[in-house]
Amino acid sequence: MIHKKMLICLLVGIFPISCYKKDTSDLTIKESFIDSTIVSNNGLLRVFGNKIVNKNNVPISLAGNSFFWSNDNWGGERYYNSEVVEWLKNDWNTTIVRAAMGVDAQGGYLSNKSSNKNRVKTIVQSAIDQGIYVIIDWHSHHAEDFTEEAIIFFEEMANLYGEYENIIYEIYNEPLDISWTETLKPYALSVISSIRAIDPDNLIIVGTPEWSQRVDLAAEDPITEYTNVAYTLHFYTVYHHEWLRDRASEALNSGIALFVTEWGSLGYTTIDTEADKWMNWCFQNKITHLNWAVNDKEEEWSILKPGTSQLGGWSQSDLTNAGKLAKNIILNWP
Ligand code: MG
Repeated sequence: MIHKKMLICLLVGIFPISCYKKDTSDLTIKESFIDSTIVSNNGLLRVFGNKIVNKNNVPISLAGNSFFWSNDNWGGERYYNSEVVEWLKNDWNTTIVRAAMGVDAQGGYLSNKSSNKNRVKTIVQSAIDQGIYVIIDWHSHHAEDFTEEAIIFFEEMANLYGEYENIIYEIYNEPLDISWTETLKPYALSVISSIRAIDPDNLIIVGTPEWSQRVDLAAEDPITEYTNVAYTLHFYTVYHHEWLRDRASEALNSGIALFVTEWGSLGYTTIDTEADKWMNWCFQNKITHLNWAVNDKEEEWSILKPGTSQLGGWSQSDLTNAGKLAKNIILNWP
């Protein structure tokens, strides 16, 4: 059923939201008509030169949250639910989330496939429902030891979700100090080849050596066999300063696109003033970034204080110092 008023608005090309304000009697129609989510507005993300662009070829920089390791009994898995995704979108203005599926560590995918995969599916489906982007992250430090498992997993994800513009594949979280050319690139080519056989177009992000900080090594020998491939940059503001921004700027200048799938800070403290500098750098270079992590574990990067509800609805006093800073950045990201 379409109200006459709505039909008139559509016919004259006026965005129908002005009509809804006058008539909220039919909420079902209201919700089905308003489709102005971040994903419907921007569509499939694509690498264009050293930038990530939207469907209109405009560079785009998103801000959002990474979930914690999904592993059984690590604690962070309690937050893998649709209520948290919805809360982050509505209360934090989060436009992208990351399901960080633990792989080889205890309680991860290799020891309990169904529980970990179901957590990923919950976050992915919730992100699709909310109209925000979502990263499917193979969260490992040793992924090259389980290439066949990665291929099977990402083939399943591509079959399930490859048609959705929301989806981004991250095929290796943080490699250790291993060779890009001899080890990492061959791993990446194998996994990308399997994804591309099913899903020709969604963005794929590849981790870089030394905890995803050696973006310079990927820049020297980038993947040219496939399109729509970006590279991971991670930073933690207490450790990573101007030297890493300089390295990342050089990598961008050489032509590769970067994606910050994880960053962390201590929040508002006098000993950690790097967050501003990093965010200015991300803004100037149109880099997307996701804060680590949605969890209440007692460690510096958690956004929540211990014991905070696992279903969203968090007050300012539920947030840690790091959580308050992250929320302020994400909420106000232009
Ligand atoms: Mg696709």
